[in-house]
Amino acid sequence: MFPEFTLRYARLPEHFFLRFDPVPVKAPRLVAFNRPLAEQLGFDLAAFDAQQAAEWFAGNAVPAGAEPLAQAYAGHQFGQFNPRLGDGRAVLLGEVTDRAGRLRDIQLKGAGMTPFSRGADGRAPLGPVLREYLVSEAMHGLGVPTTRALAAVTTGERVFRRVPEPGAVLTRIAASHLRVGTFQYFAARDDLEAVRTLAEMAIERHYPELQDRARGERYLALVAAVAERQAALVASWMGLGFIHGVMNTDNCSIAGETIDYGPCAFMEAYDPATVFSSIDEGGRYAYRNQPWIAQWNLARFAETLIPLIDDDQERAVARATELIKRYEPRYEAEWLAVMREKLGLVKEEEGDRALVEALLEAMQAGRADFTLAFRHLGEAVEDDAPALLELFENDEALKAWLPRWRERLAREDVGLEAIAERMRAVNPLYIPRNHRVEEALAAAAEDDFAPFDTLREVLADPCTEQPGREDFARPAPATAAVFRTFCGT
Ligand code: AMP
Ligand code: MG
Repeated sequence: MFPEFTLRYARLPEHFFLRFDPVPVKAPRLVAFNRPLAEQLGFDLAAFDAQQAAEWFAGNAVPAGAEPLAQAYAGHQFGQFNPRLGDGRAVLLGEVTDRAGRLRDIQLKGAGMTPFSRGADGRAPLGPVLREYLVSEAMHGLGVPTTRALAAVTTGERVFRRVPEPGAVLTRIAASHLRVGTFQYFAARDDLEAVRTLAEMAIERHYPELQDRARGERYLALVAAVAERQAALVASWMGLGFIHGVMNTDNCSIAGETIDYGPCAFMEAYDPATVFSSIDEGGRYAYRNQPWIAQWNLARFAETLIPLIDDDQERAVARATELIKRYEPRYEAEWLAVMREKLGLVKEEEGDRALVEALLEAMQAGRADFTLAFRHLGEAVEDDAPALLELFENDEALKAWLPRWRERLAREDVGLEAIAERMRAVNPLYIPRNHRVEEALAAAAEDDFAPFDTLREVLADPCTEQPGREDFARPAPATAAVFRTFCGT
């Protein structure tokens, strides 16, 4: 069933990882499987056997050709540097080449205690596994670069967090698991050769267009390329009201994918100060801080490459610093492009930024649901749509704004119906709303996976109206408790 492995990470020098077989679990059962993704990865599903698949995705059986390992990495967690994190509960089986010819990592998350576990249990509870499954696949459906979920199995064992919970293993697919923290691990040990090896691997796998650049230049160009992808990535998060929740440097992917869905959530009522994570007391990773945290992470990445950029270290620092500064206008441009699209604008005009900002202020003043406000805006290209006005506790600022926007729409090259249509294609109706996700996880904990499966289905096509599924578009009822995510993942 498994495609052939093309091992890369396992062929790096031994100090990049620790060889480690997943720890078998008591009673593996396949509870979710992503067929379209499996097909894309080159799995042969003709003789698909759920029990055999459960054994593989639980780590009870290791597929032929895999060489399981735990990757070494470091990371800044909430600004504090930890020189040794590493895969404490994840095992990389190896890489495969997918149907499009791209290398993809196959990783089991929750596969048991590794030498990087630092006293923790190496396991994952079912709730967080299904949450990552749902949200990462939703992000994919929304067109955001992300790791993917291939399978989820329950283990037949309990894991202990605040309360005992059913254990599970997630099979995660990524363009790679190279992180800023991977570079930091070796930089912290002054292992320049290892940093160079990682940089070369990153260029080969993710930025092949940099391959003929001269030494030195290529590492600076790598920082610039990673910065561009992060700028685009965070701009797309901002356009969806997505809050990652734990943007530590070990969760910042060199490939530019969203990775590590822990305490993440989508904002409902628009407030740029929104934080969900219970452990993010200072609001470091609040919605509005995300672009600047990504920049901070990129600066940490650049630091690891300084010795490779120029023999003259002062010059290397100056050049890298300049590059990191350039992230700001780059991000601003990406963000504006995302917001223009959401407002149905194709042309670029001087006043667009102010127009977007005024709408956001009106949304904040009206405590409007972020997702639905944009969705229903598309119905208001001509007249004030009731569904839009209803979302605002106070619609004064919105009513003043709408004529301004319509005046701007009149200067587009296409008619209002075409504008409304392109708005529907980019402003989702369905997002993984917290109360829906929680409901699906609660049912799954009682062994009812129907709500989880339905939610997966709804989120696979987020911009198309799905008759009978109106409820999935609605924000949490006003009576719902303030939503908090816990990092007990
Ligand atoms: P995360 O917060 O998921 O990004 O993880 C940060 C670090 O903690 C990584 O080194 C993880 O491998 C490790 N970690 C998180 N949860 C566990 C666990 N249950 N057992 C072992 N290590 C863990
Ligand atoms: Mg992590």
